[in-house]
Amino acid sequence: MSGLFSKILIANRGEIACRIVATARRLGVRSVAVYSDADAGALHVVMADQAVRIGPPPAADSYLNAGAIIAAAKATGAEAIHPGYGFLSENPRFVEAVEAAGLVFIGPSAGSMRAMGLKDAAKTLMEKAGVPVVPGYHGEAQATVVLAGKADEIGYPVLIKAAAGGGGKGMRRVDRPSQFREALAAAKREALAAFGDDRVLVEKYIGKPRHIEVQVFGDAHGNVVHLFERDCSLQRRHQKVIEEAPAPGMTDEMRRAMTAAAVRAAHAIDYVGAGTVEFIVDAGAGLRPDGFWFMEMNTRLQVEHPVTETVTGLDLVEWQLRVAAGEELPLKQEAIVLDGHAIEARLYAEDAGKGFLPATGRLSHLRFPDNARVDSGVRQGDEITPFYDPMIAKIIVGAPSRREAIDRLAGALARTELAGSVTNRAFLARLCAHDGFRAGEVDTGLIERELEWLVARPDMPAEAWGFAALAALGLTDPRAGDDPFDMIGNWALWQTPIHPVDLDHAGARHTLAASPDGAGWSVQTPAGLVRLSVNPIGDGRHELASVDRRLIVSLARWPGHLALFAEGEAFEFVLPDPLAGAMPDHAGGDRILAPMPGLVRIVNAAAGDTVSKGAPLVVLEAMKMEHALAAPRDGTVQEVVVSPGDQVADGDLLVSLAPQG
Ligand code: ADP
Ligand code: ADP
Ligand code: MG
Repeated sequence: MSGLFSKILIANRGEIACRIVATARRLGVRSVAVYSDADAGALHVVMADQAVRIGPPPAADSYLNAGAIIAAAKATGAEAIHPGYGFLSENPRFVEAVEAAGLVFIGPSAGSMRAMGLKDAAKTLMEKAGVPVVPGYHGEAQATVVLAGKADEIGYPVLIKAAAGGGGKGMRRVDRPSQFREALAAAKREALAAFGDDRVLVEKYIGKPRHIEVQVFGDAHGNVVHLFERDCSLQRRHQKVIEEAPAPGMTDEMRRAMTAAAVRAAHAIDYVGAGTVEFIVDAGAGLRPDGFWFMEMNTRLQVEHPVTETVTGLDLVEWQLRVAAGEELPLKQEAIVLDGHAIEARLYAEDAGKGFLPATGRLSHLRFPDNARVDSGVRQGDEITPFYDPMIAKIIVGAPSRREAIDRLAGALARTELAGSVTNRAFLARLCAHDGFRAGEVDTGLIERELEWLVARPDMPAEAWGFAALAALGLTDPRAGDDPFDMIGNWALWQTPIHPVDLDHAGARHTLAASPDGAGWSVQTPAGLVRLSVNPIGDGRHELASVDRRLIVSLARWPGHLALFAEGEAFEFVLPDPLAGAMPDHAGGDRILAPMPGLVRIVNAAAGDTVSKGAPLVVLEAMKMEHALAAPRDGTVQEVVVSPGDQVADGDLLVSLAPQG
């Protein structure tokens, strides 16, 4: 390792910072993390050998604070800065500042970045280098009439894109000339707000596009190789969710044409380091060697690089460090081999059912699968803050074939347990079961077309409801054989102790009730009556058996909450705070009130009876369930207001106890 750095600073956070630390450590390179106040206890800070605070939470004051980052590198004696992706990674002025400070930037030159930084200039450059570009206009003129005229020439539908764009921002599809003006104005506004530059280009909108990109690598000795392609067609809001390699249906002929074009593109800008050339392909026309067009080049490591690592067996961050240290590329083109199939799924804190709205929250329970590579920057208990990208983890699987890889990913997602924040886990799992995706019929519109199916959730089975009730009641241990309740074994008898419990699920309150039944329990749930036996098998897991099915359920608890994970689904519950007083008081004092409207089924009290605390006095049927209402304390019944068959309203008095003297 003679030529490598002894210490590098990582100007990033989250999973990519952690991932870079891991390779650095393996190579004997020490690492320095930087962090904002929001990340003071974050995983990347803990993992690195050293960490330096660079500012308050907003990225503009911390992870984009070039001065503070360079000062941290100087102060800690780091020789090089790895930018990760996002943040400063594609900022040529940052590269120049790093170099001016006598440090090495782990990535391409400022010149290469500038050449590719603007989509319009990059396209002109690529045309010159003989790389096919999407038909369109990417010239200087920005007048509305000129651009509208170009759109007519190109032929509708067209796509307006911000010249300085990225991350799908500032992009508008226009189907008809009459919509052009308005779409142009919107794209320009968005571009100005996001990039401080409102220049746009107009190009042919590809009807059924596939996004296929080629990973390239260059060194400072003039060598450029490719590491095959990735298909990133599964997108929402023009952003990637699933990436895979190789591209489904890729032919040798088309791969040769695409990878050669990508290598030409890299040579055209004397590219050094890891880069990705993104192409758009018309899925309607099939994969043909003349059917792909340059979209843009990302002059950095890509989020989805693990897919390439999985099919090539290489460590791209190691290659970045070697190339930045001046070494030649570790392998010649012929020695780089593609083996098997890899898929990455991006796990986000976002609500797929609500337009993929990003979410925040504390990941109170977190368990990653053990059959997949998981790149993550969070641990159980960490918070997804509104300051940064809401990605929780990337789950990467490899297998001999695409089908096996999809199945492995489905298994990994099923074993991923997340609670405390909304996530897209179930959405990703549904994608793995989607026929079109499984058949390799991917295009960038698939998710939007199939959205309704992809976000559909099964109803919670009665077994899960029942188990949640038992968990809330602290009754998940198997019932002992000498339990006196066993003697009764018949739920319908009112004498059987009935344990009511309130659970909030999906914003609604439900009252459930459990009672002993043989060696197990009968539970009245919103999904019906279920008879359950429960067998803890360790590590929060329980084997459940009902008359209909057996299932393994994983249980997570944290204050005021519980979550169940069963058969790939996750169900979260809030335990209502009994002190919050949201429900009428029926748990104390002298009066027993109806907690909800219902029908009085059983009354087991008469004036003058002596009752002990917890004795069920009235059974109320409501919401298709029976609720036992128990004596709040030891005492004497003063008055019974209701009889069996009475209909009562929420808060009605049922029974009163004589005041204590
Ligand atoms: P790619 O897969 O081509 O790298 P991404 O979908 O990751 O594209 O997005 C492009 C860039 O924008 C990446 O560098 C990524 O880190 C960054 N990025 C994506 N979403 C956000 C976000 N919400 N906030 C900040 N940066 C983001
Ligand atoms: P960004 O810089 O925001 O990543 P890209 O130019 O890479 O922008 O495009 C992002 C996505 O937008 C592509 O992956 C693709 O889904 C879609 N897209 C881009 N160009 C076209 C086009 N000409 N026709 C149809 N869809 C396109
Ligand atoms: Mg892109």
